[in-house]
Amino acid sequence: MAERLISDGLNKPDKDLDVRLRPTRFRDFVGQKKASERLELFTAAAKKRGDVMEHVLLSGPPGLGKTTLAYILAEEMGVNIKSTSGPVIDKPGDLAGLLTGLERGDILFIDEIHRMQRSVEEYLYSAMEDFVIDIMIDQGANARSVRLNLQHFTLLGATTRSGLLTSPFRSRFGLSIRLDYYHAADLEHIVRRSARILDVDVDEGGAREIARRSRGTPRICNNLLRRVRDFAQVKADGKITGDIAAQALTMLDIDEDGLDEMDKRILETIMHRFSGGPVGLSSLSVSVGEEADTIEEVYEPFLIQEGFLKRTPQGRVATDLCYKRFGITPSASQDRLL
Ligand code: ADP
Repeated sequence: MAERLISDGLNKPDKDLDVRLRPTRFRDFVGQKKASERLELFTAAAKKRGDVMEHVLLSGPPGLGKTTLAYILAEEMGVNIKSTSGPVIDKPGDLAGLLTGLERGDILFIDEIHRMQRSVEEYLYSAMEDFVIDIMIDQGANARSVRLNLQHFTLLGATTRSGLLTSPFRSRFGLSIRLDYYHAADLEHIVRRSARILDVDVDEGGAREIARRSRGTPRICNNLLRRVRDFAQVKADGKITGDIAAQALTMLDIDEDGLDEMDKRILETIMHRFSGGPVGLSSLSVSVGEEADTIEEVYEPFLIQEGFLKRTPQGRVATDLCYKRFGITPSASQDRLL
């Protein structure tokens, strides 16, 4: 259980660490070449025209840099950024307060925008399109709606589930950018950059080992760097070498492909308990003891990308690669856990 908690925490934001290690300009933002080039071009063009940037939707699994990019965009455009999150905005009135406080060009960043209430989403439409909102004043017989003009602002939405956004909402964003898992070489670069900032001594082998076990995710790689640093300080002279990193990560139950305990539990459950699948998300969720949303947003995208899992209309299926990875044959797997 203790190890489970450790591995679950690896992609949870640690606010202080995130802020300290967050790149603030495009030049420090490692990887995601296509996405950052598009955004850089987009901001440069808006700046040149003296225009306000169009609304942008950033999507992709947690920890890949959506919030980081939002802050970089604000910095590059030289505007203020106000940050909130979808579930926090309860009613249209909350949004009105945020919108009316924005100055021309400012960015309103809404994280987890797919979790916003439908009534709030619909309220945003006129704000996004025409920069006006209608607010109700007074109550009862005197209640009336007043139209307020807003400053031209940029809405920056971030989501781990762009598929859950309605199409009228999605179509109101001028630019939609998807972030993918990082290549190991880019993560190595991030480990070295973070090590410099945190004043941690890590050699090339150490950086490589941490990078390749980080599930393609910068936040995990920063969190692992800290855990490995602690290990190196207690068990060695503080220097992170490839060997020290491998020992520390094995102790954290993170294997050579970066799979953590929950990843392995998901795959093993599909192979052993459901004969390789197909299995529906809710049955899988009950069997592994994890929320269906978390499986879908956090675990599955990586397992699918790595080729261990397939999503079919009938449910999730373990792939041949998955059987190979665990060294088992499909027939031998059945009922082992029963
Ligand atoms: P998201 O909003 O997608 O969940 P964040 O933007 O909060 O992810 O990123 C998590 C942390 O990972 C950041 O604080 C930053 O330190 C690091 N990070 C993310 N992307 C990059 C990158 N491209 N280069 C360097 N560090 C990054």
